[in-house]
Amino acid sequence: MRRILVCEDEDAIRDFIMINLQRAGYQSVGVGSGEEAVKAYLQNDGRFDVAILDVMLPGIDGFEVCKTLRQHSQTLGIIMLTAKTQEIDKINGLMIGADDYVIKPFSPSELTARIDALCRRIGVSEAAPKKASEQSLESGPFRLDLKSRALYKNDEIIEVTQVEFQIMELFMRNTGAALKRSVILKNIWGEAYVGEEKIVDVNIRRIRMKIEDEPSNPEYLQTIWGYGYKWTVPQD
Ligand code: CA
Repeated sequence: MRRILVCEDEDAIRDFIMINLQRAGYQSVGVGSGEEAVKAYLQNDGRFDVAILDVMLPGIDGFEVCKTLRQHSQTLGIIMLTAKTQEIDKINGLMIGADDYVIKPFSPSELTARIDALCRRIGVSEAAPKKASEQSLESGPFRLDLKSRALYKNDEIIEVTQVEFQIMELFMRNTGAALKRSVILKNIWGEAYVGEEKIVDVNIRRIRMKIEDEPSNPEYLQTIWGYGYKWTVPQD
């Protein structure tokens, strides 16, 4: 059974989330502060599949919790809960390692759909590569180790989340091809994803910060204006 950590300081919202998670077949642990969230995570030896973190919390905020949990695990799925007016918050949250965000108020089905999609992605990344003989993918200075799910640039490891790894795999399998935003979204977040395409842009920005020498002037992960992105390897 998938285990979810729920961090929300408003009791009514937290109960509402946990009741709906239970109905959807998830097991959940609920806490009311960021400090408690980190403690619960460590006490359970990180045995959670997804963490749902409210941004506005007393004490350390959801972003801090996200950053801390991400330091412990690259595979944990992290969803931020944010108020509608906090547009900037979701960008910040995603830049520090969250996989998705849900805007308050949300319906139970919206939240569980996001968790389902995230768990499917985690499930996919836990599975063995499609072809047993395929060990790695190479493109320019980059190498994706498909067995250990690690990314290397000039043989140096680059820390990536499982979502970022999947995006890199998609691009490296389609070198030179312009990929539409909606295609990337479907491939990585799944057909059933109900969020905005903006999540693609935020993840690309984060990957660029990790892999490009100059993230604002990308060499490898290029923007195709009004369309999407393309993976290119400069010839020298
Ligand atoms: Ca709150």
